[in-house]
Amino acid sequence: MTDPSLRKLIIAIDGPAGAGKSTIASRLARKLGYVNLESGAMYRALALCAIEWDASFDDEATLLKMAQDSRITLERTIGGNRVLLDGKDVSARIRERDVSEGASRVSVHPKVREWMVARQREMGIGGGVVMEGRDIGTKVFPDADLKVFLDADPLVREQRRLDQQRVEGAPAQAIASELRERDRRDRTRAASPLLAAEDAVVLDSTHMSEDEVLNRIEELVEQRLVARR
Ligand code: C5P
Repeated sequence: MTDPSLRKLIIAIDGPAGAGKSTIASRLARKLGYVNLESGAMYRALALCAIEWDASFDDEATLLKMAQDSRITLERTIGGNRVLLDGKDVSARIRERDVSEGASRVSVHPKVREWMVARQREMGIGGGVVMEGRDIGTKVFPDADLKVFLDADPLVREQRRLDQQRVEGAPAQAIASELRERDRRDRTRAASPLLAAEDAVVLDSTHMSEDEVLNRIEELVEQRLVARR
């Protein structure tokens, strides 16, 4: 049997949009030689599927069937993560605003979430993963070795999102209000609302640089590894 102290960790990073989860999770995974799994990309791919098939974001039964019948794949490449929907690379398309809105709406449905959570568990169960999302520490991996809840002041998060998306020419006010609405939906939905797990380390990145956040999480990883020896 494998020595448990050699098992690679499961690291959960949760938090609201614009807190810096994706960048941090991907840098951390690269440093540790782990896989970075973006659970949000799966909800995004399902939303795109609904858009393409002209299905309503409110129709839980159809969305569940679509999730079961389609192939949503998260792939790691040298250039970063790729998301495939039925074999087609949709990595860029799923970041567009209509899909962001759709992802936030399809993810309120309990049966859709149940299906996604089961797939995410399958992908991460072997360890060696940094999985990021909204419910990783509370629902997907309640026994994760390390749980981080990454937060930041709402105005700072909006500004970060604006900086990322301004190149696409989207109006600033629309981006800010969409972010606020997604946040509200994530925090108030009945099924797995966004909240920090009781045993999560809450990091407020409002006044921290990306490097500072990463260093802090690396310290926490080291502590977990030492504690296990
Ligand atoms: O993280 P990202 O912004 O890509 O996620 C897209 C949407 O998917 C979020 O707005 C959220 O509503 C939903 N989501 C979720 N649970 C997760 C990951 C994402 O509900 N674990």
